[in-house]
Amino acid sequence: MTVSPKEQPRAAERRGRGPSDFSFLEDIGAIVTQSQDLRATLDRIVEAVARRMDTEVCSLYLYDPAKKRLTLWATTGLDRSSVGRVSMDLHEGLVGYVLERMQPVVAIDALGHPRFKFFPETGEEQYHSFLGVPVFERQNPAGVLVVQTKRRRRFRPREVRLLRAIGAHVTGIIAQARLLETLADKEEERLDYQRKMGEALRELEVYEQRQRPGARSRLSGTGASPGFAIGRALFLDTPSLDLPYEEKRKGSIRQEIQRFRKAVEEAVRETAESYRRVQATLPEMDASMFEAHRLILEDHSFRRKVEERIAAGLSAEAALRVVVAEYELRFREMGDAYLRERALDIRDIGRRILRHLLGRPGGWRRPRGAVVLVANELSITDFAQIDPEVVKGIVLSVGGVTSHASILARSLEIPAVVGVEDLSGSVREDDHLVVDGTAGVVYVNPPADIVREYERLDREYRAFSRELETLRELPAETLDGRRLALRANIVLLSELAFARHQGAEGVGLYRTEFPFLSHRDFLSEDEQVELYRKVVEGMPNLPVTIRTLDLGADKYPRYLDVPREQNPFLGWRSIRISLEMADVFKVQLRAILRVAAEGPVRLLLPMISSVDEVRRAKELLEEAKFELQRAGRRFDPRMPVGIMVEVPSAVSLAEELVREVDFFSIGTNDLIQYLLAVDRNNRKVSPLYEPLHPAVLRAIARTAEAARRAGKPVSLCGEMAADPECTVLLLGMGLSDLSMGPFFLPAIKRVVRALEYREAAKLAREILELPTVKDVKKHLFEALRRLGITDIVEKFH
Ligand code: PEP
Ligand code: MG
Repeated sequence: MTVSPKEQPRAAERRGRGPSDFSFLEDIGAIVTQSQDLRATLDRIVEAVARRMDTEVCSLYLYDPAKKRLTLWATTGLDRSSVGRVSMDLHEGLVGYVLERMQPVVAIDALGHPRFKFFPETGEEQYHSFLGVPVFERQNPAGVLVVQTKRRRRFRPREVRLLRAIGAHVTGIIAQARLLETLADKEEERLDYQRKMGEALRELEVYEQRQRPGARSRLSGTGASPGFAIGRALFLDTPSLDLPYEEKRKGSIRQEIQRFRKAVEEAVRETAESYRRVQATLPEMDASMFEAHRLILEDHSFRRKVEERIAAGLSAEAALRVVVAEYELRFREMGDAYLRERALDIRDIGRRILRHLLGRPGGWRRPRGAVVLVANELSITDFAQIDPEVVKGIVLSVGGVTSHASILARSLEIPAVVGVEDLSGSVREDDHLVVDGTAGVVYVNPPADIVREYERLDREYRAFSRELETLRELPAETLDGRRLALRANIVLLSELAFARHQGAEGVGLYRTEFPFLSHRDFLSEDEQVELYRKVVEGMPNLPVTIRTLDLGADKYPRYLDVPREQNPFLGWRSIRISLEMADVFKVQLRAILRVAAEGPVRLLLPMISSVDEVRRAKELLEEAKFELQRAGRRFDPRMPVGIMVEVPSAVSLAEELVREVDFFSIGTNDLIQYLLAVDRNNRKVSPLYEPLHPAVLRAIARTAEAARRAGKPVSLCGEMAADPECTVLLLGMGLSDLSMGPFFLPAIKRVVRALEYREAAKLAREILELPTVKDVKKHLFEALRRLGITDIVEKFH
């Protein structure tokens, strides 16, 4: 996928405009917070400002209210030996004038300005243009920040605003500077100043926290679920059973057994709560797993064994560890794969009891206020414990956009950043976090201005979404009358309501893996019918495309014995597994055929790489129909069958493949990774994962053209469908429908409604001729600007 809008750098940066003012302010913030040495910090700030503002000089003058003088503290461009030597009162020079007026002063030709005063030691006579802004510390004048250029030039209002904002950032540093200066002057007041220093540092608490050794205040990862979240860090801590807990019992046998029993009781209560929660929020998940946990928790012999160990002198923790290890061993030795799996349950249960013994309920406890869940990774059971009312954001050190946790986060509409480096070293429980799930950034204890900026973005974003809501009932139709069907990609049943709310015209991709991953075995035909029926009922009278199992790669159910593979994405996955496990596959085919009799259902085969595979799948489909007929079951014998075009060989064979099927659905998430040889989950190579690569665009165009010639519909259901930048091209290349996460539907509809098909087709033709990504982007962005849809593109990047 994507690199969906989320994984890509912000639009402005990609277009070569350089970093935004906001990100520059962040950099300044980082310099301020990360530096220990005051002088060096000020030097770095003035250098960074000069670079950013493209000026030859940047200088910082600090004001001493006692002496009523301004002194040069740092400069780049002027003679550095003048630092500390050049000083002036408020009535001298342009710098004094800035503080006297308490306003920015701009001079195109400073040397000719009546207030100009020449300080020969600085060598500033060569600089003509001057911009100075006052710097305040709690409303009191604290200094002047100046930029100068040789060339006579105007400074734009935006530049003045930026320099002022930078000035506000360095206030904290100035507070320290002043204290240090005063300390040097008046040794006898040292203690008093120390107290003041304490105050100043408290004021800079935010900065302080971020100066932990090795800690970083801005963590980048992959934006996995869009939106912004602000909250306190909550670690989903599952202590290891192997930690060195006190071996010997400290209290009496009775006390220790009581402690153990209480922990078990709490674990039982927690399990029941998880069970209820799962049933309510994730009905397709196998909640019986919690039931099995409860049975073990309440098992007498399990409890007795632990209590016997306690009686023999062990602490409750140690006794638990020993008994869990014994059980685990016994289960692991069992021949039956299902029973072997129970070893994991036992370990899970052991950890749960241990958490309660340690007084760290963790997992599901109701924290106060909004929280951001922080973890290495989240399992499906962990997800079951998430209450979206409280958990506002998710940050994980593992995972990519298409990993399970990411898909679930999107389904629950919780902004998430995954694959975050240095997470454990940089975040502590209760830290204040800002999660930008759109850009893939996490801020740890950010300064107030970053929080404010995000609060503003969040408000704007919500207002924008409300504005888009008005489009819900309108068709996705271009100005010249071409209709595009916009449908939803669904993982969870709970997403259906949201998809309808967002105006989805059906389900373009129902990924059926999730229930299989959360259950303890392949689902029976009836279980599947029940599930798929819910999808059909959730989209009354609208088409629903059900994709057969796309297991493997990063999605293995625990009960499927899979050999370790070196390249699982090129290995035993998807349709390859289905064709090999024909019986399992036919159960699914029968279930889909049956539901197709109840609504407009289409069958979609993933990962097709040859004509033979389609033919074999169709043979099995015919067998499934025959079996249903024999069993007297109602089904739709004419259910349309399509394939995902997501392997390059399928593109090459598009003309042949289209004859075999009723429709195509292009899966760009995989197609990009296979075509460009770039792992879709590997952050290291994510800049190479480029939907606008000419080879990707040509593959899509070729597939669409083959379908068009055959008069068959062609859809696109990879994350690219949700990228407003790409919509004009996809429309122009002749896609008949786009399927995407429900979140993005209104935005894409708005883009479609602003376009003319004829113009889009012309643009697509032009762009398909271009040889490089750079050329494509240049041409495309110019067109987007011309077409006036850059606002929506910016908003969703
Ligand atoms: C794709 O590959 O584009 C796709 C939609 O399928 P998935 O992300 O489930 O592999
Ligand atoms: Mg795929």
